[in-house]
Amino acid sequence: MKIVPVACLQDNYAYLIVDESTKSAAAVDPVEPEKVLAAAGEVGAHIDFVLTTHHHWDHAGGNEKMTQLVPGIKVYGGSLDNVKGCTDQVENGIKLSLGKDIEILCLHTPCHTKGHISYYVTSKEGEDPAVFTGDTLFIAGCGRFFEGTAEQMHQSLCVTLGSLPKPTRVYCGHEYTVQNLKFMLTVEPDNEKMKQKMEWAQKQREANQPTVPSTIGEEFEINTFMRVDLPEIQAKFGAKSPVDAMREVRKIKDNWKASGVGGFTLNGWVDEPANWPKPSCRPGMISLGGANTPNLTAAGSFTLPFFLGFAAVTRVAGSLALPFFPGLAAVKSVFVASSSPALITGLPCPCPSSFGPLS
Ligand SMILES: [Zn+2]
Repeated sequence: MKIVPVACLQDNYAYLIVDESTKSAAAVDPVEPEKVLAAAGEVGAHIDFVLTTHHHWDHAGGNEKMTQLVPGIKVYGGSLDNVKGCTDQVENGIKLSLGKDIEILCLHTPCHTKGHISYYVTSKEGEDPAVFTGDTLFIAGCGRFFEGTAEQMHQSLCVTLGSLPKPTRVYCGHEYTVQNLKFMLTVEPDNEKMKQKMEWAQKQREANQPTVPSTIGEEFEINTFMRVDLPEIQAKFGAKSPVDAMREVRKIKDNWKASGVGGFTLNGWVDEPANWPKPSCRPGMISLGGANTPNLTAAGSFTLPFFLGFAAVTRVAGSLALPFFPGLAAVKSVFVASSSPALITGLPCPCPSSFGPLS
């Protein structure tokens, strides 16, 4: 089995899973179909089907194009998730096979979205395990609880994914590792494994290399969200149960701001406000003046000086200026209020109306 990560958009990963004897491949979240097809061409593989982790546009947004470019291709997606372009719905426990030697087990891992599916992949003998976790489990992090509860995320991370063999390689949906570890080290500053992982991850990113995969075993050491069953972690957060600790860590992370040069940053916030009709108009991040954000690349981002305003940074292309705010106090109050997605979803979309709604 060969696994090929394909960097897409600003910080997404699509993947190819290739059965080497038949050159059959599955594409996970091919949001930029041409890139993924080119990557398949490079390894001489043909794509048999698409595996979609969840309905968010930066994962499922390439499905319809894939069905046009590869006629007859099957597109799998969770039955509770209303995935665009989906031809075949899957549920927990469904098994698929790829080529001659690869088995795929669908695992329902809800919370980030209701119907989120993680795909556990092995050889027919159960060897070489890997899991594609979309926006449920990140390296040293987890997705926001957009459509679920702390109970569900605990079940998804610590029970469903946590029961996979420890050497299972974890391939997640975004390159968030450095930023995630920065946060993790604020809640577990003495965790040596986290510090080592941070050093390694920073070197990888400086060399323009991905930080995927980690392993399930490693996540139990470096990811506080997967460590909430430990009494010492619960004690740290004054929590009475693993679920309480899960809720608390998520709450702290949602409100966490890394300080950057001359400003604040707020990373990974609002994935997909429902009433922003066009993908390129949906902010993936908000950046406040002079911010130093490792997740932002020069393209598609901009910051405003002197804290006079804020800008939405799109994940696809270009930037959108939102209304200016007259001073730091106003910006601060927006900043604080903005931990609630309602703030942005309540703003009118600045797209020209000719773009029309997406769905
Ligand atoms: Zn998502």
